[in-house]
Amino acid sequence: MPAAPLPRSGAASPDARRPAANPWSVDLRELGRRAGSMHELERSLPAPADWRVELIGVPEGAPVALRLRLESVMEGVLVSGEVDVPVAGSCARCLEPVEDTLELDVQELFAYPGSTTEATSEEDEVRSVEGEHIDLEPMVRDLVVLSLPLAPTCTDDCAGLCVDCGQRLDDLPADHTHEQLDPRWAGLAARLAAPGTPGAADPEEN
Ligand SMILES: [Zn+2]
Ligand SMILES: [Zn+2]
Repeated sequence: MPAAPLPRSGAASPDARRPAANPWSVDLRELGRRAGSMHELERSLPAPADWRVELIGVPEGAPVALRLRLESVMEGVLVSGEVDVPVAGSCARCLEPVEDTLELDVQELFAYPGSTTEATSEEDEVRSVEGEHIDLEPMVRDLVVLSLPLAPTCTDDCAGLCVDCGQRLDDLPADHTHEQLDPRWAGLAARLAAPGTPGAADPEEN
């Protein structure tokens, strides 16, 4: 019974501090702390499981494309750039599957511990540099989840479902209607109700 070896990517890094477990973590040592230095970052990372709202979300494991610029500034690291993320869900009007790609712009400061920005901000309103790293996941998650539509639609003008038969109106001919049934049912109902209608014998008008 051979033990399945864990897959290793390349030689073991001598740098024990590299957080291989979190692909969203960015090592800042290459960037350095000198204000003005800049580093481009391009990554495609698998989406975590919980990036969603009620009707739509990012499928777990779907590729999230990051094209970011990291800039060393006095207070920390300024991250800006673009995030492309695939989303999937269902139309709020007709329930058909909806797929799209969100293209989002991002710009956020990760403050150094002890910086003025960090000292003057509430803990939950500023992102922080953690040691020699920043974790991009909470930033991208907030960006994506806040951009997800609460009522996604399959097309801009999806007409929804026919209230009478439940079919998608966009799949039906433009003149789809149930009006022709209504008079028949009305007539039938009247005929069924006519004999023995208690209303006829009801001496209401006295
Ligand atoms: Zn629809
Ligand atoms: Zn119908």
